[in-house]
Amino acid sequence: MLLTISTTHHPAIDVGYLLHKNPARCQTFDLSFGRAHVFYPEATTQNCTAALLLDVDPVGIVRGPSRFSERLLDQYVNDRPFVASSFLSVAIAQVFGSALQGRSKERPELVDTPLPLVARIAVLPCRGGEAFLRRVFEPLGYALTVAPHPLDETFADWGDSPYFTVELSKTTTLKELLTHLYVLVPVFDHRKHYYVGQAEMENLLAKGEGWLASHPEREAITFRYLKHAPSLARQALAQLAQEDEPEVAALDDEASTGEEDSAEARISLNEERLGTVLAALRASGARRVLDLGCGEGNLVRELMKDKQFDEIIGLDVSIRSLEIAADRLRLDRLPPHQKDRLRLLHGSLMYRDRRLEGFDAAAVVEVIEHLDPPRLAAFERVLFECARPGTIVLTTPNREYNVLWANLAGDAKPAETKGERAAADTVIVSPPLRHKDHRFEWTRAEFRTWAEAVTERFGYTVRFLPVGPEDPALGPPTQMAVFTAVQRCGDGT
Ligand code: SAH
Repeated sequence: MLLTISTTHHPAIDVGYLLHKNPARCQTFDLSFGRAHVFYPEATTQNCTAALLLDVDPVGIVRGPSRFSERLLDQYVNDRPFVASSFLSVAIAQVFGSALQGRSKERPELVDTPLPLVARIAVLPCRGGEAFLRRVFEPLGYALTVAPHPLDETFADWGDSPYFTVELSKTTTLKELLTHLYVLVPVFDHRKHYYVGQAEMENLLAKGEGWLASHPEREAITFRYLKHAPSLARQALAQLAQEDEPEVAALDDEASTGEEDSAEARISLNEERLGTVLAALRASGARRVLDLGCGEGNLVRELMKDKQFDEIIGLDVSIRSLEIAADRLRLDRLPPHQKDRLRLLHGSLMYRDRRLEGFDAAAVVEVIEHLDPPRLAAFERVLFECARPGTIVLTTPNREYNVLWANLAGDAKPAETKGERAAADTVIVSPPLRHKDHRFEWTRAEFRTWAEAVTERFGYTVRFLPVGPEDPALGPPTQMAVFTAVQRCGDGT
């Protein structure tokens, strides 16, 4: 297994200081799975190439004291000695540890200097092929040369193997290049020689800082990196989602600025909404309830006051909101019999979460409009298919009503003053959304269309209820849907 890193930075040979490896010497390091050699095929002021050659012991990884457990590795004849895999990541961390962490005693100024770098991986196994390679590296700014290898040169019709020679070029810091290789090589290979636990998740978040959260393939990268640990992957993704969505963090300021509240203050819509949601949950007969996107815990507090609800879960993607909720609910001071009824969970509604399965009811209050429209399909499956509570009470703003909020509409006059109080879904004025973090707001017709499609797809029925003072033409400020799961023969729902 060979990795080379080349540069034409002037003087190129200085890369030796960054790698902490003297270009004049060949060095060998003992690792748990074999040996790593570092040497420089060329080292001049114009061009410098450092090579990391891994000598993986194929018998040792099957029989040795550290016995790497994947089934594939139970064979003495395996591809590990020849391909870039998680062994390479370990070698990068151990042999180029200082460079990976961005430390250089002799050339500290070079650490943060972008250098013209080319990394060449002699053989990279890639599940997902060249297309996946490009989807991962190109958004990070790399120019790629990818050469596929045939499965067997003598039998051309067998097609290509999953192995590629890959060359990556980018002007960047050595630290960044090594970090990307460290995280991504095992992602392509999709086999890991070590146990994946909490520490690996933290490692991924640390190494992924600054690039993973906004990467379009972050889900594939995270699930593959945390192989065999989908619940860890979901936790990591929830954390990444928070990093990538400043608007979620900005929500934390809502309480202090009261922006969303003030726009709706005149009728204390918030309270009315809580009351209506609570009534619907009570009426469903639910005892075990979820508050999904619970924010700072307004609904949770009301649920706690009612003995009907004996198990309450509040879930949110924002850790900060959960902390505020825990504080406001005085979680640490509750008597044990109260505390046992409640759990606040960190998680994202974008990913299937087994902790949410088997509940009687779920409230999703003013959350859906915070989700990206292209990701609604994922949310629908997570809620209606996987968590599948018996009752779902979901609220969202009615966009038509926005013209009546003077402080939102600005110059836009309510339609009635123009004598155009026409059918609700033909409102012509298009006032701004109610809150800067809303990705969309639906008219009543749009909400109905969405809700009815969902009921058909997932086997629910739905009824709609207004929340707040209803305008005869524009409807209520908040719209609410109550979904009820249809009992299907034999499925026990
Ligand atoms: N339901 C609460 C909060 C509404 S604000 C109330 O009525 O007071 C929207 C909430 O949805 C925020 O707390 C936000 O952090 C949360 N949220 C946004 N995207 C989410 C996601 N993907 N998964 C879980 N919660 C999310």
